Amino acid sequence: MRAAKKFLTVEGLNRLPRLVHGFGLAGFGLEDLSREPELSSFRPVVMKQLHSARVFFLDKFPEQQLAGDGLVTASARLLLVIKTADCLPVFLVDPENRAVAAVHCGWRSTHQKILVSAFYLMRENFGSRPGSLLAALGPCIEQKCYEVGPEVLESFSAAGFDTGRIFIPSDSRDKFCLDLRAANRLLLADDIGLRPENILEMEACTFCSGDLYSYRRDRQTGRRLINFIGLE
Ligand SMILES: [Zn+2]
Repeated sequence: MRAAKKFLTVEGLNRLPRLVHGFGLAGFGLEDLSREPELSSFRPVVMKQLHSARVFFLDKFPEQQLAGDGLVTASARLLLVIKTADCLPVFLVDPENRAVAAVHCGWRSTHQKILVSAFYLMRENFGSRPGSLLAALGPCIEQKCYEVGPEVLESFSAAGFDTGRIFIPSDSRDKFCLDLRAANRLLLADDIGLRPENILEMEACTFCSGDLYSYRRDRQTGRRLINFIGLE
């Protein structure tokens, strides 16, 4: 992992040829994408995000704005964009078949297993194999800063998650702290079957870092971090 000026990148993806990606820092907006020399030939695809498990396969630039939380493509020069402020952005990369996915993993999408839906679309369209997939998990709100009510724990329990591995009791009565990154790591490793060494993570917490936007910290602002991945 290294810090660029405007966005963070993951070393394990920097090594791959003709792939661009970044997890945006505060101050880097949608309008800045076209100003980056390495991104100038790309067309950004920006969804209306719903906190759903809906993922789209793209073989060209969409004719209208899509409403959902994941994008999958093998087409060059489409820049898949995920906006976040506390939610976890995840990129999936299939180096064998030259395909990528960008997924918005808030708690609602996570308990609906949106990463598994994204993988199914990659397998169906490109023949992606879990053993060769890479995943990069960007900044999100970390567990100790992410207190939730019992209904969130119940939703994960009903969806079949081992809640003992992703929740700890909070200091507040009847509240819990959710490890969003761990929940998605479980989906990647156990449900999909990625190799642990192919799951690339960064530790940054959106709530604690002034370089990142946090919905819980800056509720009124509506500001979002811009995360992107694409194939040249
Ligand atoms: Zn924090």
